[in-house]
Amino acid sequence: MRLICHRCESVEPWPTDRWECPCGAPREMIGLAPFAPDAVDPREPGLWRYRAMLPPLPATGPVTLGEGFTPLISGIWEGLSVYWKLEYLNPTGAFKDRGTALVVNDMVSRKVDKVVEDSSGNAGASLAAYAARAGVQARIYVPEHASPAKKAQIAVYGAELVSVSGPRIEATRAAEEATTEGVVYASHVWHPLTLIGMTTIAWEVWEQLGGRAPDWFISPVGQGTLLLGAWRGFQTLAASGLIERLPRLVAAQAERCAPIAEAMCGGKEDVEGVPPRPTIAEGVAIVKPVRGRALLQALRESRGLTPVATEDDIVQAQKKLASVGLYVEPTSAAAVAVLPSIRRHISSGETVVVALTGSGLKSPVTMK
Ligand SMILES: [Zn+2]
Repeated sequence: MRLICHRCESVEPWPTDRWECPCGAPREMIGLAPFAPDAVDPREPGLWRYRAMLPPLPATGPVTLGEGFTPLISGIWEGLSVYWKLEYLNPTGAFKDRGTALVVNDMVSRKVDKVVEDSSGNAGASLAAYAARAGVQARIYVPEHASPAKKAQIAVYGAELVSVSGPRIEATRAAEEATTEGVVYASHVWHPLTLIGMTTIAWEVWEQLGGRAPDWFISPVGQGTLLLGAWRGFQTLAASGLIERLPRLVAAQAERCAPIAEAMCGGKEDVEGVPPRPTIAEGVAIVKPVRGRALLQALRESRGLTPVATEDDIVQAQKKLASVGLYVEPTSAAAVAVLPSIRRHISSGETVVVALTGSGLKSPVTMK
């Protein structure tokens, strides 16, 4: 296994803490075992059924809370047949647990006992939970405006919670500054195993659809780790000859913060970023995704789409989802709110998978 930079193609041996290439781009892991259906072990909990295709674990075995292998259920949305991937049923109520589980296992392997992270809430809550499970001290920097439920969740797991005033980027700066000797920045964005954890969603969908890929894979995008990780997962399935065609990706963003859509429309090779503007979909309020370049490439290769949702569309979609039994947070509702605007691209009979990424309990609707 080794890390590669997709921008300058430099290679770094694994294990390493140098997740950022000297050229400034994030690195990705390559050299893992190819996907082999015979190697899937359904006796293992959650995503650990794919253990043979994942990086080696600590000698003490996996630190796990049962993440992954979330249900895929069918539904109808305004006449369109879809499958909902219930990522909010992960142990901390968000998809982040897929990546965090692998990152924390890496920390345990390296005998790291103090970590810091910055998050709009979900990644921080996830790291706090897995750190508690592993006996690692965690300090999480969150924007002051993050959901009170998410902040409470981080604190209740026993992590040190630090609220940072100003836009989301200030929390990142604070976490980076806090990284000193013996304190590792366990960034879900920069750590290469986050993406590896996210690849498992593609493998699950493939299994759950009876050994085929969907035609469309739709996710809300902030840093875009789920969408990019899923793409990498589908690519490995194609490389193993298990699927003939990759799905088209849809990166749903809030109209108030849509750096990917702007870069796609502008024909850019990398994401330049947008000015910070608050949105109810706090998980997608990322003005310049770290893996923007790779995301744009994946979206272009997949003939993907980058629709945006207004604040009102997001609120309406969240309420309507709840009315059919699916209680998700506004960030997740953004992926559903864009469905009407992309509908004309979807042919009848095509399979559409929508990732419902975070629980409504994290950002409760106020009933009037
Ligand atoms: Zn590089």
